Amino acid sequence: MSDSSNHAFSTRAIHAGEHAWRDAHGSPRTPLYSTTTFRFDKTADLLDVVEGRKPGCLYTRYGSNPTIQALETRLASLNQAEAALTFAAGMAAISALFLAHGRRGIICVGDIYGGTWQLLSEQLSLLGIRSESLLSSELARLPGLLQQGAGLLYFETPGNPTLEIIDIAAMVAQARAHGALVAIDNTFASPINQQPHALGVDLVVQSATKYLGGHSDLTAGVVSGSAALLAPIATWRKNLGQLIAPETAHLLTRSLSTLEIRVRQQNQHAATIAAAMAQHPRIKRVLYPGLPDFPGHALAKRQMSGFGGMLTLEIDGNGAAAARVVDHLQLICLAPSLGGVETLATQPSTTSHHDFSTAERQRRGISDAMIRISVGLEDPADLLADLEQALASLDRP
Ligand SMILES: *Cc1c(COP(=O)(O)O)cnc(C)c1O
Repeated sequence: MSDSSNHAFSTRAIHAGEHAWRDAHGSPRTPLYSTTTFRFDKTADLLDVVEGRKPGCLYTRYGSNPTIQALETRLASLNQAEAALTFAAGMAAISALFLAHGRRGIICVGDIYGGTWQLLSEQLSLLGIRSESLLSSELARLPGLLQQGAGLLYFETPGNPTLEIIDIAAMVAQARAHGALVAIDNTFASPINQQPHALGVDLVVQSATKYLGGHSDLTAGVVSGSAALLAPIATWRKNLGQLIAPETAHLLTRSLSTLEIRVRQQNQHAATIAAAMAQHPRIKRVLYPGLPDFPGHALAKRQMSGFGGMLTLEIDGNGAAAARVVDHLQLICLAPSLGGVETLATQPSTTSHHDFSTAERQRRGISDAMIRISVGLEDPADLLADLEQALASLDRP
């Protein structure tokens, strides 16, 4: 059930999906239905649901659980999509998406998440699902690859960890011209900063473990799109048993109520930190889409409604110097995730891009001296003080 209300985002983030399950005890929120199955009075009633004549819940693994359905209605509304499906993890969503729509071949553009990369290159290849990967500097090869009949064009923007911005509308136009679908991983931007469906993207996948959950306390994923494109994905989800747990769905629904205030504040904090760090003598470069001299700034301004809470610092030094800075952080945690209320830092060469050779990292514009920061909700003055004292460790012998 999609939410047709034309309320603003923040209103829908609190109310979309709730009206459908008004509860007998008057709970203002959809209760947690921590049940695996649903009972019927009569066989005829059960058959009405099984044969699709009446809506109803049957068995949680099928996705028919009121807590999960309320969450999916809300996520469809927030992503401006007809429907949404939720999963036990972002990777579950991505794998079901590829199994359902990637069998004619998948073309990836730009840097993609390490798990997605491994799934495509080492696992789906075993099943005969072919994939090609182009850096954005190699886009001249895209029309030729699309011409060979690949059915799915897939990318992430902003990219990890360079925050590279890819032109969504241009990708959609090229894919359309060749009858391919377009899917995007919108995890870094979240629906607050980027609405890919509004730019023509067919399927949007997100790791809800990051901004949507927002508190580093749950693992989940979501795919949104048309009901017709989601139907085959739902069948893979059902038979691979990839469904989100009702308990997690309940927690995620609550998180969505505060998504807008969290992400808007994180955008502001990241902008403050990026501007201050750009002036620091020990910092060679700050990669942040909101900085006027960032290569993708104009494009980000055009296709995003906020520049995000992710930024990457490049230390004036080598990988060991960057590790030294990270190791001296006291408030900011060294941890490989993003999107939570607490600020996290990692060195991509030791985490997301650890398995690439130094040469391959260089080809991708990733230096060992980079530190990626997911900016949280702490006071930016405290975060800057922590970064400054950690950078000061470079001045000591
Ligand atoms: C974390 C992440 C994923 C995978 O999500 P999980 O919830 O950990 O399975 C996919 N894409 C991006 C961009 C991510 O950051």
